[in-house]
Formats: sequence, structure tokens, C-alpha cells
Amino acid sequence: MKIILHTENCMGCGACNDRTPEVFGQDELTNMVLLLDPTPPPDLHDSVRAAAANCPTATIELLDE
Ligand code: SF4
Repeated sequence: MKIILHTENCMGCGACNDRTPEVFGQDELTNMVLLLDPTPPPDLHDSVRAAAANCPTATIELLDE
């Protein structure tokens, strides 16, 4: 799995950070998403998929490898 963020779409809701803080951070000033781990380990894939599916602005794109 590889993660690509389209950060121009992010509205800073924090949902991805709440769900998977190992992978998605949040900028303290702007609230925009930060990508902490673009290639997360397999045990986080389900959580990352859920974060992507529940992002209200389709900011998180996943590439399976
Ligand atoms: S869930 Fe989507 S809109 Fe919300 S902070 Fe994460 S990337 Fe941004």
C-alpha cells in the first residue's frame, strides 16, 4: 500500500488522525493533514482504508502494490 494525499482538498476535520494517528498527523496551525507514513505496515491497512473511505473530501488516495 502507498498513500498519496491531495492536500489541496483537505478541510482539516481531523477524522483520519483520530482513526489512524500512526499514519495521519494534523498540522497544529492549519489543521491540515500530514502524512507521517506513506507506506504503512500491513496491520494498519484496514484502518487506513477506513480513513480514506470516510474522508469527506476524498483527500486520501490509496495505491495497492
Ligand atoms: S479526513 Fe480528510 S478532510 Fe479530514 S483531516 Fe483527514 S484528509 Fe483532511
